[in-house]
Amino acid sequence: MNNGEQTHALYRLLPSLNDLLLTAQAATQLRSHPREAVVRSARNVLNQIRQEIADGQHTQASLTARLSDLGDSIAGDLDRSGRFSLRPVINATGVILHTNLGRAPLGQSALDHIVEVAGNYSNLELDLSSGERGSRDAHVESLAVRVMAKTIGENEPPNDLQAMVVNNCAAATFIALNTLAEGKEVLISRGELVEIGGGFRIPEILTKSGACLREVGSTNRTRLTDYEQAISPNTGLILRVHQSNFSMQGFVTRPRLPELIELGKRANVPVFEDQGTGLIFSLEKHGIHCEESLLESYRPGCDLIAASGDKLLGGPQCGLLIGRKYLLEQIRRNPLLRTYRVDKMTYAALEATLLDHLSGAADSIPIRRMIGTSAIEIQARCHSIADQLRAPELFVEVVAVKSLIGGGTTPGASLPSYALSLRHATLTPDALLSALRQSEPPVIGRLNEDRVLLDLRTVNADCDALLGTLLNGCWTDLQSGLQTSGK
Ligand SMILES: *Cc1c(COP(=O)(O)O)cnc(C)c1O
Repeated sequence: MNNGEQTHALYRLLPSLNDLLLTAQAATQLRSHPREAVVRSARNVLNQIRQEIADGQHTQASLTARLSDLGDSIAGDLDRSGRFSLRPVINATGVILHTNLGRAPLGQSALDHIVEVAGNYSNLELDLSSGERGSRDAHVESLAVRVMAKTIGENEPPNDLQAMVVNNCAAATFIALNTLAEGKEVLISRGELVEIGGGFRIPEILTKSGACLREVGSTNRTRLTDYEQAISPNTGLILRVHQSNFSMQGFVTRPRLPELIELGKRANVPVFEDQGTGLIFSLEKHGIHCEESLLESYRPGCDLIAASGDKLLGGPQCGLLIGRKYLLEQIRRNPLLRTYRVDKMTYAALEATLLDHLSGAADSIPIRRMIGTSAIEIQARCHSIADQLRAPELFVEVVAVKSLIGGGTTPGASLPSYALSLRHATLTPDALLSALRQSEPPVIGRLNEDRVLLDLRTVNADCDALLGTLLNGCWTDLQSGLQTSGK
């Protein structure tokens, strides 16, 4: 037989969907699942096998073996289809704010508050004292300003300060530019025409907002006089973009924010900072210097600041706008704002997170806890898991590594940490990494040359025992999985 005839013969071994549904294995599944779900899974499995034949993966013997456990394959497909797609994973990458892994995990008080608010009706937009329609922002506005004031040691925030919440910091920046500078010029340093991540480019967003970009200075050097000379009656805003995801070194200068604010005051042009990171505590004691915080934008009296909720603030995904009342009032009147409206769950999580910051219960915010964990403690946890490992195919060492804060913050900065360094007798490091992703819950590690590293800084200590069990168990499943898929 030639190749084409052989393949044809293999296809002929496949049962029809109808015959498959009449088998005993399918009957078992039909007793516990709706018929259309079993039909869908049976069809998926048959399609998968057809693809394997088309890819030249089967001989007559391997196909016969594959067909002998069709029942298990259907059951496996049914299991997967009933499972959530969005699931918790163990983040062992050592990157604390990992955008692919959902950035900041929320603290317990935020989670509790979400459950209580979202599972019930709430006063989301009802003023309980007057009985009239209220504002969503009321639930977090005064907290946000109080957190800022308290963290820099002021007792009371200035009373012309307000705050509001939109979907994310990108939206906050856009709505601010659109409201305050449509048809006007926005002054920005050429050193700040950056891409923030996820394709969010400052020059593009500026153009889309209807503002006219007025570049000043050069990529590496911008002086106060560059801004001064560019100011005209048509200047709507001075924009400052925090260099959160890159750093420039060498022959570099730009005015300090207080100087820009002073210039803005003199020229009667508001200064808006896209601060981004939402950092409101000091990273100095963790050995990270030079990271400008939200407070450093707030303290000298920046007119308007935008920050992310799910970076170093440690809260839900959202964008905070904090600034002078007359500016926020204009933004609140922008009809586009309705398209950036945030859900009650976000307000609940943000309110609880801000309260944790305010009450000094900062360690209940997971990212602060992770940043604060000492390398020694992480080393001890690594050794205790390594000592439990019994899988003979797995070689493990405990090695010193560097964790990152990530999420487009603190570029170049790292925290000393420790990791389990894994090698498998037969699997390549890539296959090992992939096997870990297939475990339940999935474990996300990172590659370092011929090893897989699991940095425990980003793993909740409650999960250490589970991680040990997964490492001991998943190889046998993996190998039998490889055999049953005929590969
Ligand atoms: C991260 C970041 C953004 C984008 O924030 P999102 O909340 O992800 O939209 C914008 N500006 C700066 C300076 C940032 O660091």
